[in-house]
Amino acid sequence: MSAEDLRAAIGKRATIRLHGSEGGFRDIVGVLQSETSLINRRGELIEFQPDDVAFFRVIPVFNRRDADTGQLRIYDTLTREVKSIESRDGFISIYCCGPTVYRDAHVGNLRTFLLSDLIARTLTLQGIEVQLIQNITDVGHMADDFEEQDKMLAESEKRQVDPFEIAREFESRFHRDLALLNIRAADRYPRASENMDSMQKAIGELIEKKSAYVGSDGCVYFDATSFDSYGAISGNRLEALKPGHRYEYKDEGGKRFHADWALWKLAGGRTQMIWESPWGAGFPGWHIECSAMSIDFLDASVDIHVGGIDLRFPHHENERAQSNSLTGHEVVQTWVHGEHLLFEGRKMSKSAGNVVLLGDLIDRGLDPLSLRFALLENRYRSQMDLSWESLEAAHSTIRRWRKLMSEWGTSSELKLDNEITDSLATDLDTPRAMQRLRAIEKDMTIGAQDKRAIFLYADQVLGLALDRTLDGKALTDELKQLLQRREIARSEKNWAESDALRNQLESAGLEINDSAEGQSWSWK
Ligand SMILES: [Zn+2]
Repeated sequence: MSAEDLRAAIGKRATIRLHGSEGGFRDIVGVLQSETSLINRRGELIEFQPDDVAFFRVIPVFNRRDADTGQLRIYDTLTREVKSIESRDGFISIYCCGPTVYRDAHVGNLRTFLLSDLIARTLTLQGIEVQLIQNITDVGHMADDFEEQDKMLAESEKRQVDPFEIAREFESRFHRDLALLNIRAADRYPRASENMDSMQKAIGELIEKKSAYVGSDGCVYFDATSFDSYGAISGNRLEALKPGHRYEYKDEGGKRFHADWALWKLAGGRTQMIWESPWGAGFPGWHIECSAMSIDFLDASVDIHVGGIDLRFPHHENERAQSNSLTGHEVVQTWVHGEHLLFEGRKMSKSAGNVVLLGDLIDRGLDPLSLRFALLENRYRSQMDLSWESLEAAHSTIRRWRKLMSEWGTSSELKLDNEITDSLATDLDTPRAMQRLRAIEKDMTIGAQDKRAIFLYADQVLGLALDRTLDGKALTDELKQLLQRREIARSEKNWAESDALRNQLESAGLEINDSAEGQSWSWK
């Protein structure tokens, strides 16, 4: 990075990515004061070495006029109201709790990951620059149930594979699923295992500030009573939390108070996935991960924090207590939670054997984006019951829309539609936006070109790849031969043969159209 580039940007708002001491990166955002300093949004002067700058980008000046059209309003779990998202000079930071990578994300997890994508895309449509961070939980407490053992180590033992190998395998499957769902990649996916220093630093500071202590078992615990507004997100009052409830891990015997939680656990019998620390070799608790990452990567200023409703307590409650205690200010401006997803009326669970993965849709011949479509037909904040029937219906509507799009022309022009903009801005009312597209589809007063332009406009947020052609699937050699034979039969005016071949092709899933130019085909 040349010092000249930095000098040219003095006085401008910029994102700067710095090389970290441990090989990772750290992003800072603010107004450049000199080639070696920047003032962030909280008015703090941050100094850096030009040699450490891996990348920097000047944030374009925001056009106020654009902001007035459809500013995003969204439900904040903390204040329990739908509130306007205020960008800071055209910039919004988002943190989304990421996957635990010892298994595939099921369609319910994917609903949460879609939520942060919808928020990011809606803000981008409004001309706002978004920075999105999603963590990868590859260490720490890896249990679904607070009584279970660490899932990663259990899986590693079962398969006789290094636990990090398992983590990387599921991490790449997570990225594959996101890509299939047209979820735009986050700016960064920091791994817990690669941010051990910053977690330990946070734990050390919490002990110094008397928000945390070393328990009778040598593990480090957060003192829940040290944080006055504990419980504000979930409505759980500290005095009402009973000991021994489900939110507690059973192996945290050294804490002073039942609502406290572990920040650092000693290795005990563990030999894998442990790190040296000032408190002895061990591993971090899960909650400290998200505090450390959001403080480090988003400059301790998260405009929107996204996660599934099941994370509201204790995970987000604990994260808020840690982050605010560390920084002395409210780190997260808005807490957004996605509701539960049921499948055919039941909660998905491994024991019930009804966990549905994206791969299961593909195995049934469904377009993976039919999941995205079906999820969009329900608002993120309402509990939803997904079924094979609704996925199949979504699949056929996507295909119908794609077919119509190709009939409506080839232009890539976009046309703003106020109702769609307003639906999305109104607490992400995606069902209303989908309804609007259905109405436009049927409206005889709207021309084909306009229909296509509005669909393309909506698709910037809906992300259904509506301009994708249906002939994406390749023809088999057998079908190619049948098409050639039919071509010959037609040229010989052998209509009986031609009709018989048409029946055969149609039952194989093709649609055949005859015109003056000859026969053409598409997938049904
Ligand atoms: Zn989290």
